[in-house]
Amino acid sequence: MRNEQAASYAAGAMGYLTKTPAVCLTVSGPGLIHALGGMANAQVNGWPLIVIGGSCDRDQEGLGGFQEFPQVETSRLYSKYTCRPTEVNFIPFHIEKAFRQSIYGRPGTSYIDLPGDLISQETNKTIVYPPKCCDPPHSLAPKELIKSLTDFLTTAKKPLVIIGKGSSYSRAENPIRELIEKHKIPFLPTPMGKGVVSDSSPFCVASARSKALAQSDCVLLLGARLNWILHFGQPPRFNPQVKILQVDISMEELHNSVQSSVAIHGDIGSVVQQINKDLDERKWTLNQNSSWWAELLKKKNDNINTIKEMMSDVSTPLNYYAAYNEIQSLIPKDSIIVNEGANTMDIGRTMLLNDSPRHRLDAGTFGTMGVGLGSAIAAALWCEDNAPKKRVICVQGDSAFGFGGLEMETVNRYHLPIIVIIFNNSGIYTGLDAESFKMLEEEGTHPTLCIPPTSLLPNARYEKITQMFGGKGYYVRTVEELRTALKESLSDTKQPSVINIEIAPTAQRKAQEHPWLTRSKM
Ligand code: ADP
Repeated sequence: MRNEQAASYAAGAMGYLTKTPAVCLTVSGPGLIHALGGMANAQVNGWPLIVIGGSCDRDQEGLGGFQEFPQVETSRLYSKYTCRPTEVNFIPFHIEKAFRQSIYGRPGTSYIDLPGDLISQETNKTIVYPPKCCDPPHSLAPKELIKSLTDFLTTAKKPLVIIGKGSSYSRAENPIRELIEKHKIPFLPTPMGKGVVSDSSPFCVASARSKALAQSDCVLLLGARLNWILHFGQPPRFNPQVKILQVDISMEELHNSVQSSVAIHGDIGSVVQQINKDLDERKWTLNQNSSWWAELLKKKNDNINTIKEMMSDVSTPLNYYAAYNEIQSLIPKDSIIVNEGANTMDIGRTMLLNDSPRHRLDAGTFGTMGVGLGSAIAAALWCEDNAPKKRVICVQGDSAFGFGGLEMETVNRYHLPIIVIIFNNSGIYTGLDAESFKMLEEEGTHPTLCIPPTSLLPNARYEKITQMFGGKGYYVRTVEELRTALKESLSDTKQPSVINIEIAPTAQRKAQEHPWLTRSKM
């Protein structure tokens, strides 16, 4: 790849998609520093990743050696495990431990430092290899805790299940689908929890998200943290009386932000099977005619109608909803969607539907902007090995594309048929149209003094970046042009394409009930 940062993003995403750490190799000093972004991204997301960094020869250390840097110490903040084997015979032990640490408990990053002189060392000792790393054990919950959890769930007036990317990572989709569908409980996916149960399920209340969170009196949290993504579980976004029922593989995560009424340490898939068994014995199903379901359905319909209005406005430059509506109607249901940007990601989360787990990759828990092309490359390589017909659709804001746009050379070099769609509103959140931009530019002594830092060059022709490398590029202004470009791109299974959509610089998302990151004083 062109930059270690994109390579480490790709390796982290591959770890999430395969449940096995991918390995990112970097050169010393600056090479490792570039990879820190991906190490932090994987670590904060709870994804397995192994980074192996070359480093300065040990006999040059302290003398200003080539690319000398305290790499082990630096990596410690970004990793679960860091090491530098002291001699060549010990390398296998550190590899086994790095691998095991990256997948046991909450997954994360392992860093192995290999100085130049160690790599070229020889040994005449017989190396005794450690045994192969076993899969992590699946821990179950004590029966009393399951009973206590189902007592709360079945007596709640307004139960809600929140499905996070921990459920997706842990492959818990089958028992969770059974829990939701058999017992008819409303559920809310987090951004990367989408698809564990299909977004099209009648039990999905994503389009009544604010209402569901604010009103529910009992939330079953499956593989999601009560962090900023879930407003720390606090009012006004959550009901102040809400009972939290929590299942997590990380003991340290239990009771974070809000004290849980039942906190279970265990593997989601196994624990949900225990919950299902108990609910079967109770013969319990949530009443579909309850006032809770009626409230949720009403809100769902109201919100869908508001969005329908915005989708039907196809005046140019386009708004986000009109463009997303066209994309959603054309892309195959089983596409892997990569989505990042400001408004582009927020709106894309609601407009692009996922049918299957691990089919959405975005800025994640760390809110990392610039992960898009790295994630898309990982997804395309995963498809090559596992589902060659599946498409990868990478929808990015123009600002997000700018972080690593030259990785399009990598995409073209390996003939990865990724479709990159850029929502180009000429700015971060909002931009300026060409005329206003020019006026401001001419106003002062230097453009840096007059142009807002969130504005980017209006109508930049990003599609030409892929054309430089032989890929197809389209600049589109209308839904008809978007339709033609997307159909052509979908019919080409050998080559990537970039579709650059001109979006109104001031287009916004649907009005929100609460400001972003609302949190009461605790
Ligand atoms: P989201 O961003 O979707 O809200 P988070 O990354 O915040 O999700 O939370 C995922 C949670 O899932 C983490 O707390 C992690 O420890 C947990 N987790 C990961 N794998 C498992 C598993 N197999 N069983 C239970 N919990 C898991």
